[in-house]
Amino acid sequence: MIRTGIGYDVHRLAQGRKLILGGVNIPFELGLLGHSDGDVLIHAIADALLGAMGKRDIGFFFPNSDPKWKDVSSLVFLEEIGQILFKEKWRIENIDSIVICERPKLSPFIEEMKQKVSSSLGIDLALVGIKATTNEKLGFIGRQEGIAAFASCLISKGID
Ligand SMILES: [Zn+2]
Repeated sequence: MIRTGIGYDVHRLAQGRKLILGGVNIPFELGLLGHSDGDVLIHAIADALLGAMGKRDIGFFFPNSDPKWKDVSSLVFLEEIGQILFKEKWRIENIDSIVICERPKLSPFIEEMKQKVSSSLGIDLALVGIKATTNEKLGFIGRQEGIAAFASCLISKGID
Protein backbone atom coordinates (compact mmCIF):
# COMPACT_ATOMS: atom_id res chain seq x y z
CA MET A 1 0.00 0.00 0.00
CA ILE A 2 1.38 3.42 -0.92
CA ARG A 3 -0.12 6.79 -0.10
CA THR A 4 0.77 10.38 -0.90
CA GLY A 5 0.07 13.45 1.19
CA ILE A 6 0.09 17.20 0.68
CA GLY A 7 0.50 20.03 3.16
CA TYR A 8 0.33 23.81 2.94
CA ASP A 9 0.71 26.50 5.58
CA VAL A 10 1.18 30.26 5.94
CA HIS A 11 2.20 32.31 8.95
CA ARG A 12 2.34 36.07 9.36
CA LEU A 13 5.69 37.79 10.01
CA ALA A 14 5.86 40.09 13.03
CA GLN A 15 8.35 41.92 15.20
CA GLY A 16 9.42 40.48 18.53
CA ARG A 17 9.29 36.84 17.39
CA LYS A 18 12.11 34.44 16.59
CA LEU A 19 12.24 33.11 13.03
CA ILE A 20 12.17 29.32 13.27
CA LEU A 21 12.06 27.36 10.01
CA GLY A 22 12.59 23.63 9.80
CA GLY A 23 13.45 23.68 13.51
CA VAL A 24 16.36 26.07 12.90
CA ASN A 25 16.59 29.47 14.58
CA ILE A 26 17.40 31.89 11.74
CA PRO A 27 18.78 35.36 12.52
CA PHE A 28 16.30 37.93 11.16
CA GLU A 29 14.54 41.10 12.35
CA LEU A 30 11.08 39.47 12.08
CA GLY A 31 9.64 36.14 13.16
CA LEU A 32 6.50 34.09 12.52
CA LEU A 33 3.38 34.55 14.64
CA GLY A 34 1.76 31.40 15.95
CA HIS A 35 0.59 29.60 19.06
CA SER A 36 3.61 27.31 18.80
CA ASP A 37 6.90 28.58 17.34
CA GLY A 38 5.07 29.28 14.03
CA ASP A 39 7.35 26.94 12.06
CA VAL A 40 5.46 27.02 8.77
CA LEU A 41 7.70 24.41 7.10
CA ILE A 42 7.26 21.84 9.86
CA HIS A 43 3.50 22.45 9.89
CA ALA A 44 3.27 21.80 6.13
CA ILE A 45 5.32 18.59 6.45
CA ALA A 46 3.21 17.47 9.43
CA ASP A 47 -0.02 18.00 7.45
CA ALA A 48 1.36 16.07 4.46
CA LEU A 49 2.19 13.08 6.68
CA LEU A 50 -1.15 13.18 8.52
CA GLY A 51 -3.02 13.51 5.23
CA ALA A 52 -1.18 10.54 3.72
CA MET A 53 -2.40 8.42 6.67
CA GLY A 54 -5.94 9.69 6.06
CA LYS A 55 -5.97 11.56 9.35
CA ARG A 56 -7.18 15.02 10.34
CA ASP A 57 -4.83 18.03 10.23
CA ILE A 58 -2.25 19.38 12.64
CA GLY A 59 -4.77 21.76 14.24
CA PHE A 60 -6.91 18.77 15.19
CA PHE A 61 -4.04 16.88 16.82
CA PHE A 62 -2.32 19.89 18.40
CA PRO A 63 -5.07 22.51 18.94
CA ASN A 64 -3.96 26.10 19.53
CA SER A 65 -6.60 26.27 22.28
CA ASP A 66 -4.45 23.87 24.32
CA PRO A 67 -1.87 25.71 26.50
CA LYS A 68 0.27 22.53 26.32
CA TRP A 69 1.37 23.57 22.81
CA LYS A 70 2.01 27.25 23.53
CA ASP A 71 5.49 28.32 22.31
CA VAL A 72 6.48 24.67 21.92
CA SER A 73 9.00 23.65 19.24
CA SER A 74 7.05 22.33 16.26
CA LEU A 75 9.61 19.51 16.03
CA VAL A 76 7.65 18.00 18.94
CA PHE A 77 4.64 17.68 16.61
CA LEU A 78 6.80 15.91 14.05
CA GLU A 79 8.15 13.51 16.70
CA GLU A 80 4.59 12.63 17.74
CA ILE A 81 3.49 12.12 14.13
CA GLY A 82 6.58 9.94 13.60
CA GLN A 83 5.37 7.78 16.51
CA ILE A 84 1.89 7.45 14.96
CA LEU A 85 3.45 6.39 11.62
CA PHE A 86 5.65 3.85 13.40
CA LYS A 87 2.74 2.42 15.46
CA GLU A 88 0.59 2.05 12.36
CA LYS A 89 3.52 0.42 10.52
CA TRP A 90 3.86 3.15 7.89
CA ARG A 91 7.27 3.77 6.37
CA ILE A 92 8.21 7.17 4.98
CA GLU A 93 9.53 6.75 1.43
CA ASN A 94 10.26 10.45 1.02
CA ILE A 95 9.22 13.96 1.93
CA ASP A 96 9.65 16.96 -0.34
CA SER A 97 8.96 20.54 0.61
CA ILE A 98 9.43 24.14 -0.38
CA VAL A 99 9.50 27.33 1.67
CA ILE A 100 8.44 30.54 -0.08
CA CYS A 101 10.18 33.39 1.66
CA GLU A 102 11.35 36.74 0.33
CA ARG A 103 13.96 37.36 3.03
CA PRO A 104 16.23 36.21 4.62
CA LYS A 105 18.20 33.93 2.31
CA LEU A 106 17.60 30.39 3.52
CA SER A 107 20.15 28.37 1.56
CA PRO A 108 22.80 28.45 4.35
CA PHE A 109 20.29 26.76 6.71
CA ILE A 110 18.81 24.06 4.47
CA GLU A 111 21.15 21.24 5.50
CA GLU A 112 20.54 21.90 9.19
CA MET A 113 16.76 21.93 8.56
CA LYS A 114 17.03 18.57 6.79
CA GLN A 115 18.93 17.17 9.77
CA LYS A 116 16.30 18.41 12.24
CA VAL A 117 13.39 17.03 10.21
CA SER A 118 14.99 13.64 9.53
CA SER A 119 16.12 13.14 13.12
CA SER A 120 12.71 14.16 14.53
CA LEU A 121 11.08 11.50 12.35
CA GLY A 122 13.88 8.95 12.77
CA ILE A 123 14.48 8.64 9.03
CA ASP A 124 17.46 8.95 6.71
CA LEU A 125 18.53 12.48 5.77
CA ALA A 126 18.38 11.57 2.07
CA LEU A 127 14.61 11.01 2.34
CA VAL A 128 13.97 14.67 3.14
CA GLY A 129 13.88 17.37 0.46
CA ILE A 130 13.75 21.02 1.50
CA LYS A 131 13.95 23.82 -1.03
CA ALA A 132 13.54 27.56 -0.75
CA THR A 133 12.44 30.19 -3.21
CA THR A 134 11.35 33.83 -3.14
CA ASN A 135 8.05 35.13 -4.49
CA GLU A 136 9.80 37.59 -6.84
CA LYS A 137 8.62 40.46 -4.57
CA LEU A 138 4.98 39.71 -5.51
CA GLY A 139 2.02 39.60 -3.14
CA PHE A 140 2.02 39.18 0.63
CA ILE A 141 5.14 37.04 0.60
CA GLY A 142 6.94 39.52 -1.62
CA ARG A 143 6.01 42.33 0.79
CA GLN A 144 7.48 40.25 3.64
CA GLU A 145 4.12 40.04 5.42
CA GLY A 146 4.33 36.28 5.71
CA ILE A 147 6.06 33.04 4.77
CA ALA A 148 4.38 30.03 3.13
CA ALA A 149 5.39 26.39 2.74
CA PHE A 150 4.25 23.39 0.69
CA ALA A 151 5.10 19.77 1.42
CA SER A 152 4.36 16.39 -0.10
CA CYS A 153 5.24 12.90 1.01
CA LEU A 154 5.01 9.25 0.03
CA ILE A 155 4.44 6.61 2.69
CA SER A 156 4.08 2.86 2.35
CA LYS A 157 3.25 -0.28 4.30
CA GLY A 158 3.44 -3.96 3.53
CA ILE A 159 6.08 -3.48 0.83
CA ASP A 160 9.61 -4.91 1.19
ZN1 LIG B 1 1.13 26.61 11.01
